Amino acid sequence: MRGSTEHHVIVGGSAAGVAAALALRDHDFAGKVTVVDAGAELPYERPPLSKALTGAETRFLVPIVPAEVYAERDVDLLLGTRVLALEPARRLVVLDDGRALRADRVLLATGATALLPGVAGVRLPGVLTLRDVRDARDLAGRLGRGGPVVVVGGGFIGLEVAAVAREAGADVTVVEQAPRPLERPLGPDLAGRVTGLHTRRGVRIRTGVSVLEFTGSGEVDGVRLSTGEVLPAAIVVVGVGVHPDTHLAERAGVVCDQGVVVDRQCRTSDPWILAAGDVTCQPNPHLPAPGRVEHWDNAQKQGAVAGAVMAGAVDQEHTGLPYFYSEQFGHTLQMYGRFADGDTFVLREDATDTAFLGFWLRDGRITAAAALDRPKELRTIRPLIETGAPVVAADLSSPDTDLRALVKSAKAFKPLERSLAPGAGAA
Ligand SMILES: Cc1cc2nc3c(=O)[nH]c(=O)nc-3n(C[C@H](O)[C@H](O)[C@H](O)COP(=O)(O)OP(=O)(O)OC[C@H]3O[C@@H](n4cnc5c(N)ncnc54)[C@H](O)[C@@H]3O)c2cc1C
Repeated sequence: MRGSTEHHVIVGGSAAGVAAALALRDHDFAGKVTVVDAGAELPYERPPLSKALTGAETRFLVPIVPAEVYAERDVDLLLGTRVLALEPARRLVVLDDGRALRADRVLLATGATALLPGVAGVRLPGVLTLRDVRDARDLAGRLGRGGPVVVVGGGFIGLEVAAVAREAGADVTVVEQAPRPLERPLGPDLAGRVTGLHTRRGVRIRTGVSVLEFTGSGEVDGVRLSTGEVLPAAIVVVGVGVHPDTHLAERAGVVCDQGVVVDRQCRTSDPWILAAGDVTCQPNPHLPAPGRVEHWDNAQKQGAVAGAVMAGAVDQEHTGLPYFYSEQFGHTLQMYGRFADGDTFVLREDATDTAFLGFWLRDGRITAAAALDRPKELRTIRPLIETGAPVVAADLSSPDTDLRALVKSAKAFKPLERSLAPGAGAA
């Protein structure tokens, strides 16, 4: 028997939504919790979808938590159900099965959808994006029949797919508009090193070119580039970014700006509606400006804060340092923070083609750090970024510097003012 008649509804059962549901219970919310998701599967992790595409489906379809957990925590899952609209005035969540749920609070955790370029042939079978398990099944099935594979967009998901396809023996070409893949998130030096992992294994990387059209009559058979050349393709994977799924928020009159605008407590401009995960534009103190953080770790942590706030925990804020990881050809890339134009890049001098640790600095403080296969050192220096402790570039670059000693000296340092200032969000 529930101790409260309240009902909180979470739209989107993925990293953010599930974390929020569990956090509601962790914070002793005694009412009803419903998670509604358009997908039919038990909520699953998305990162394995681009990393474990070969072999049995169980390798890439990994539940976030086992089914029993929802029963144990008294969380109702409404799967295969789409929310069509939110009606703040009547506090109703309108479902596509004809029902409407009355809710005391609503969390929007609708994530993002993959973008497709507006070129001819984009709807041809064999031109794929990779966002959910249906996409992964389609891609895995096609990879089993062989390439050539053309990956459009050299971002993390594109490069992970390129690595998996190449390891499966396919002929793989990555097409990237920029001078090199990953230049925006990693800068030219580290992006070059990660790209080297691919070229050394025979992945062709075509940079500074764009796609004019996808060719083929029943199925895709080629990709026409801006150079006029046509790359043969049995499979095309488009990884050119995502669009936050804001339409429910917009139609409910919630303020959106490249995402649902939230404050540090995940509150939107409508007191009935909170938001968390990829769909949000957040005022994280570790970002140069409010923006989206499209990573699994952020979605989970922001979702957990949203759940706590919905349960009434007024002291909870999402100010966590952005973190992501990527796996390519057996190497693990990890990054904390985000750098801005003008930050100074410092590479630890013992970097190799296959292992590195690099930092970005602004005003004598680390704004971001990235590592390939050096997880311990990256974890060690994390407090330096979190606290904004002053550092000297030469200490970071020298392999002789004991990073643990640097961090010890930072312990005495008080966290940055900016991480304690009130949020710049909507509420
Ligand atoms: C292939 C792939 C690999 C990735 N790899 C990494 C990685 O290695 N490292 C990393 O940090 N991040 C990775 N990410 C990013 C990470 O998965 C996302 O940041 C995370 O999934 C965001 O979680 P979310 O809950 O905000 O949204 P999502 O995961 O996008 O989930 C949103 C959910 O909302 C549901 N939904 C949307 N609209 C409605 C509606 N109207 N009604 C009902 N349900 C609705 C959708 O069905 C979906 O299940 C990867 C993403 C993908 C796609």
